[in-house]
Amino acid sequence: MAGLMQVIYHSAARGEVHDADLARLLAKAREHNARLGVTGILLYSEGTFFQVLEGEADVLDGLMSVIAKDPRHTDIVTIIREPVARRSFADWTMGYAPLAPDDVGSIVGMSDFFGSNASFARLGSGRAKKLLAAFREGRWRSRIAGKVEPPPARVPAAAPPDFTFAFQPIIDAEAGAIVSYEALIRGARNEPAAQVLQRVGPAERHGFDEGCRSAAVDLAARLGLPCDLNLNFLPLSVETSQTSIASTLDTAQRCGIAPSRIVLEILESEIINDHDGFARAVNEHRGAGLRTAIDDFGAGYAGLNLLAEFLPDMIKLDMSLIRDVERKGPRQAIIRGVRQTCQDLGIDIIAEGVETPAEYAWLRGEGITLFQGRLFAHPAFEQLPPASFPSR
Ligand code: C2E
Ligand code: MN
Ligand code: MN
Repeated sequence: MAGLMQVIYHSAARGEVHDADLARLLAKAREHNARLGVTGILLYSEGTFFQVLEGEADVLDGLMSVIAKDPRHTDIVTIIREPVARRSFADWTMGYAPLAPDDVGSIVGMSDFFGSNASFARLGSGRAKKLLAAFREGRWRSRIAGKVEPPPARVPAAAPPDFTFAFQPIIDAEAGAIVSYEALIRGARNEPAAQVLQRVGPAERHGFDEGCRSAAVDLAARLGLPCDLNLNFLPLSVETSQTSIASTLDTAQRCGIAPSRIVLEILESEIINDHDGFARAVNEHRGAGLRTAIDDFGAGYAGLNLLAEFLPDMIKLDMSLIRDVERKGPRQAIIRGVRQTCQDLGIDIIAEGVETPAEYAWLRGEGITLFQGRLFAHPAFEQLPPASFPSR
């Protein structure tokens, strides 16, 4: 016997989802799941599905491959697939809870199906409950919302976009110095990153990403880069690391920038998608003398065990954790935990997207010293801007 497993994933709805669609989807799922002995819960909010499934391992794997082919959603990200001792959702063959867009203060929306207001407590303290709470806070929702790509058929065959870079400093508050600049892609007329990236079709992604990093190194060098340089990986491009490392290194060498001055930022969500690919990429980068950072850490809720597996040189705390941190208990708790773990593992932490003195003061109080955000400097179009160093 294969044993009981739990799978948790989230995905992006394709097109609009109406109540009637959900009702149909649930009715079918309940019938199907009852037959398969699968239990669980489905949440839907603002274009994002979140689902917990429990059942026999082989049954769940089969079900997941059916789910993966379902045209009603896309961008499926498996958060957890692990053995569990017992079911968190008793005999609910498929509970459903719609979450209103601004339903962030409570989980009462779930009481409809849980049967009583207190029944969220029936989930105990398991991981599923914690993940549900994270979903309710909207962290994955915003993550996915930014990631959804239009269906390929509707993308016009665009010429490779005309691009350049803005640079934003990463500061060491303790030393009062800029330690690095992050290269952020822009259109030739300062169009935002999202607009440029969205014009890159799936087929040209790898090539584009490679060219993009080399171009960033080249421009930074021409601007007289006096410190390190942080470069971004396009989602789904980690696979081609071998060639792209080579071309990044070539450009760096030609521009007189040592590999150890380059930090490659990989999105946390990418790592969750492709553990093995990422592990390989990290090792290849290390071998070449480059450093690695996990970008948007905390947005995908991968958990701290990710750090134990991969040991990046640094992590960048996601903006959603930073925002209003001085008055958000859960965010404070997470950051404290992450910081402690990183300290033990020798991983640097950068707090990203810091906008207010209050956020900064709280983070400094926790011993964080590396920062990036508008409070210090906005990204500057084709420039390496100075930073302001606020007093505590
Ligand atoms: P990211 O790597 O997490 O970059 C940080 C983003 O936060 C940038 O957005 C930056 O302008 C913005 N930001 C900085 N400080 C603040 C702040 O205080 N508050 C707020 N609200 N935002 C702040 P940007 O430039 O629009 O880039 C968005 C994303 O696009 C980047 O997120 C990165 O994932 C991707 N990207 C940007 N440039 C490149 C690139 O050259 N190559 C690749 N592959 N991806 C890139
Ligand atoms: Mn980044
Ligand atoms: Mn980031």
